[in-house]
Amino acid sequence: MKNFFEKRIVESSMLDFSNNFTEICIPVEIRRDRLIKRVSRVMRFRLRGLEGFRNAGLIEKSKKNCPFCPENIEKSTPKFCAALIPEGRIRFGEATVLPNAFPYSKYCGVTVFSKSHFMSLEDFSPEILFNALKASLIFIERVRCQDDQVTHASINWNYMPGAGGGLIHPHLQAVVSPRPTHFQDRLIEASAEYRRSQNRNCWADLVAYEKSEGERYLFQQDEVEFLAAFSPKGMIGEIVAVFTGKTGLKDLSDAVVNSFAAGLARVIRGLKKFNVNSLNMSLLISLREEDELWIQARIIPRMALPPWGTSDVNYFEKGHDEVIVILPPEELALALRTTE
Ligand SMILES: [Zn+2]
Repeated sequence: MKNFFEKRIVESSMLDFSNNFTEICIPVEIRRDRLIKRVSRVMRFRLRGLEGFRNAGLIEKSKKNCPFCPENIEKSTPKFCAALIPEGRIRFGEATVLPNAFPYSKYCGVTVFSKSHFMSLEDFSPEILFNALKASLIFIERVRCQDDQVTHASINWNYMPGAGGGLIHPHLQAVVSPRPTHFQDRLIEASAEYRRSQNRNCWADLVAYEKSEGERYLFQQDEVEFLAAFSPKGMIGEIVAVFTGKTGLKDLSDAVVNSFAAGLARVIRGLKKFNVNSLNMSLLISLREEDELWIQARIIPRMALPPWGTSDVNYFEKGHDEVIVILPPEELALALRTTE
């Protein structure tokens, strides 16, 4: 696995106005993950002063006419067609699954976490996370039983507008389709290529490698391993949760989902150290027996940069598909590993 991770340092020289225009060299570390074909540029940045997205006034204002609040959810949200979900909406604990009014795929469900209009990140207990994940999995399973053409699924989270959330009321989105998404496809291809070249499972090797190296490894929650991505997709990093040996819906027992929910809650607690108040999460599940892809989640904290609340997505990512990273993954891992 070591050979799949490359680091190269380039230095940019300039004359420093704050020190009598003496020459300084600023290093940029370019990381290439050849396994999943991703490039990130890691530079050290003064992390003090990093802030979450500003949400002042947003929560109260958004409460008016929120379709997911208990007084509106029955009359202001769609129901599934009877052929797919005869009862119209799926309920599990406090979670409710309903059709996405703005579908991205043939089968697109929205899972409302609970009756609470706003939950701060620390409000997401393992139980609340479990219920919403479980409700979403029931939706995926129901679709799979109805349509034998679907092959790939995911459970996704845009938490708060800074991470793409269109509604404040916390919700997940489950997508089921007859093709993998671009990134799912890349991971499936990576698994197959690794099998061809190494005759081994790349996810088992990735976890073993990160565990032995230690610096990006976070913790194990029963059968789910948490680690920081070598070449992350987010400005302050990316957390990968790998479900050991789990490849399909049948492997996602309540115990396994519970483990993931507990680990996710712990990661979220750790992210508070960086004032994170927005994040993206995607849990990727192949429904095809032949894919060697271990079920995994990718958690990407989202940040606003001071002093203008500048977006953490810029031309490097939009125009070049490379990610600017200001917190080395090893430092993110240390902070999350030491959170209980
Ligand atoms: Zn609401």
